[in-house]
Amino acid sequence: MHLGLYIHIPFCHSRCPYCDFAFVVGKNHMAKRYMDAVIVEMQNRLQSLGTLPVFNTLYFGGGTPSAIPPGQLNQITASVKSAIAPDAEITAEANPNDHKYFEKLYEYGINRLSLGVQAFTDRALKALGRFHTASDAIEAFQAARDVGFKNINIDLMYGVPEQTLEEWATSIQRAIDLCPEHISVYGLTIEPQTNFARRFQKGKLDVPPETDQAEMYMYAIDQLEAAGYTHYEISNFARPGFASRHNLNYWHDRPYLGVGLSAHSYLYNRRSWNVRDLTTYMQHIEATGYAVEREEQLTPTQHLLERIMLGLRQRRGLRAEFLSHPKIQKQYIAMANQHLLERTDNRVRLTRRGLLLADLVCTELVREL
Ligand code: SF4
Repeated sequence: MHLGLYIHIPFCHSRCPYCDFAFVVGKNHMAKRYMDAVIVEMQNRLQSLGTLPVFNTLYFGGGTPSAIPPGQLNQITASVKSAIAPDAEITAEANPNDHKYFEKLYEYGINRLSLGVQAFTDRALKALGRFHTASDAIEAFQAARDVGFKNINIDLMYGVPEQTLEEWATSIQRAIDLCPEHISVYGLTIEPQTNFARRFQKGKLDVPPETDQAEMYMYAIDQLEAAGYTHYEISNFARPGFASRHNLNYWHDRPYLGVGLSAHSYLYNRRSWNVRDLTTYMQHIEATGYAVEREEQLTPTQHLLERIMLGLRQRRGLRAEFLSHPKIQKQYIAMANQHLLERTDNRVRLTRRGLLLADLVCTELVREL
């Protein structure tokens, strides 16, 4: 059985005002106990599979995996070493200010680094409440290259408060100039219960209008494609051969195991996810060896919906055979008439206009199922 393995590292240096991920700040003293719990959970989950899987990808996400000493991440990798494929893609998300750890991360077998840069202008970084500067990000990228990383992703964010298209263009150009293998481009979303949501409700957060955000997204697509990146998923761009194998597992509807706080798993057509509170997670693992909050078996219809949603996120789109379902076909025709979906050979995909309304198009396509 081939699986992707996701390991959640929730520790962060500070609280970004827009973030609603599962993270903790100022609790690094709990990292050792947490990592021990993750190893226990992983061993139990592997035992319950019955057969030792082969992990073709490992992904340390967060939180900020680089916020804790690399030796602690290595403990996890070492504990499943015999199950890791020799050519596995092993990614760690990293904060640019943690570059002192990059050499060790590389030495411990991490072969893909995902840098949470977000912007290459100090004004946007400040607006996002980030503590690194644009020059820190450039130095971090160069430090990663110097220690040997040949596969680096840069995360960028558009729709930042008071961002102009010109400022966004600077970030895109600086990212292109560094020649990373992969660039992810996300629009800022105002998540409920965050500092940004509270400021937005009070009218104290000036985010660019939707039309400007759409222009920023389209600008990124055009510039990155012109620079030789393939736009292979709504938010992701890669040089040939460098699409994220771990994320492709998700989008190709393949099984994965997630361990740690709030981590999701998808095995044997069952979805499950862990509790979201750090202390609760550790207590559950220490008491029972598991910390699953909920699990559900996908019905055939839920599975079909899932495959359609995941397929449409990819630029190559869905296999056209999905259209043989009469209820989907009817919706497809309506959206093709609005130039939101298009046929390419034997596939169906979002048009450029459809990309801007991707969530809505996906929901509408499956509305009658
Ligand atoms: S570093 Fe990442 S996970 Fe941590 S608070 Fe900021 S955005 Fe959230």
